Amino acid sequence: MKTERVRFAPSPTGWLHVGGARTALFNWLYAKKHDGKLILRIEDTDLDRSSEKYTESIKEDLKWLGIVWDEFYKQSDRLEIYERYARRLVHEEKAYHCFCTEEELEERRQRALDGGRPPVYDGRCRNLSEEEKQQYREEGRESVIRFKLPEQQPNVVVPDRIKGDVEFESLTTGDFVILKSDGTPSYNFACVLDDHLMEISFTMRAEDHLTNTAKQMLLYEALDFNQPQFGHLSMLLGPDKSKLSKRSGATSVKDFRKNGYLPEALVNHLAQLGWSSKDNQEIFSVSELTKKFSLDNIIDSSQVFDRDKLDWFNNQYIKRAELDRLVDISAPFLQQGDYIEEDLKEDERETLKKVLDLIRPSLDKLTDLKDHEDIEIFYGSLELNAEAEEVLNWKSSPAVLRELEEKFSTRESLSPDEVSTIVKEVKEGLEVEYKEVYKPLRAAVTGKISGPEIKEVLSILGPEVTCGRLNSALESRS
Ligand code: GLU
Repeated sequence: MKTERVRFAPSPTGWLHVGGARTALFNWLYAKKHDGKLILRIEDTDLDRSSEKYTESIKEDLKWLGIVWDEFYKQSDRLEIYERYARRLVHEEKAYHCFCTEEELEERRQRALDGGRPPVYDGRCRNLSEEEKQQYREEGRESVIRFKLPEQQPNVVVPDRIKGDVEFESLTTGDFVILKSDGTPSYNFACVLDDHLMEISFTMRAEDHLTNTAKQMLLYEALDFNQPQFGHLSMLLGPDKSKLSKRSGATSVKDFRKNGYLPEALVNHLAQLGWSSKDNQEIFSVSELTKKFSLDNIIDSSQVFDRDKLDWFNNQYIKRAELDRLVDISAPFLQQGDYIEEDLKEDERETLKKVLDLIRPSLDKLTDLKDHEDIEIFYGSLELNAEAEEVLNWKSSPAVLRELEEKFSTRESLSPDEVSTIVKEVKEGLEVEYKEVYKPLRAAVTGKISGPEIKEVLSILGPEVTCGRLNSALESRS
């Protein structure tokens, strides 16, 4: 059986968008599922808009997502190939040089629009004689190469593995440019040549490329190339159901990376935007995804990129993350919050592990660590809120805190169980309710009346810090 070869072909004219990342992911899953190959092809022939900076960041984002490509190409390295094929089509009279200037084209476009006609190229240079061409050249006009659309424009039917057949009754494109005057190819032309030369078996991209696919099919025909199979993914929408754009908040993978999302969370959300395992499973490891992914389960309707859902996934993965890794990826955010230094000593690292383990159930994204209430307990300065003050003003509170302080201060360390035992002893000794012990204890140590499990908090802070806070609560009230 022939190896399946798919590709992801971004233009490096901006940061990798989540829509592009989903296309990359689906192609990669498809390749993995079929033991095939993923080709990363950078479509950088628009020299003005493309930049190396974006190429590098696309590669970085894909790596971060765990998407691994098998072959890498850049179209700007292949210009000579496109030129050669364009000349071939000219030679076969399937394409021609066009000398119309931008101004002329614009004027005719406007006239067509005014007259209610489609603003397409009118074929003026289709049949220029050698003399006319020569004259244009002597005038110093530059030329582009245009593809000659078949006289009798056939209906184009795109056989789509996701959508079924998609029919285009007439392609109002006119003879389109395949090679620009600076020698660079147009997207459609380079794409067809590369998909063919790179032996792509299945071209899967977003559905906003459907009309391009129809045009490309005409090029396959003219070039006498076999077509790959095609598949078009429905579009991603913002929460307001309009096209996902900057207005919908962060949309680039880089933003999510910087904003404290785990790649697994983004992969999980993207995987389920247009694909479903049909068994209600939501959390997938990459290996499960590659096993279960199938074109049969692709959903052909637009999908909402749902930030709340992404946060939910992120929280799930934060809760599951290995603690050492969580420390590593959280550290930059804690440094931004001025909670920790860059170089953690071994014991500081161990403490941080415990802190993160304790607070992670309430963590949606790592940026939240920059000013997380629960982080303040361990790394911030203690400030009592009004409710905490009120609890500390209970009549029973000073005696409770004094007793607790006395007992804690005899310990070298505090386990959660020891805290429970001491709390019980104090409750019984002073003949008060549990809440009359726990609440002032929490208020004095954390400054609040709710938060993470207090036994765990104390066991991380240790007796010294705990007693210090109990003493200052007592002092400020004496
Ligand atoms: N460079 C095109 C884009 O970024 C690629 C489309 C395709 O996959 O053919 O939209």
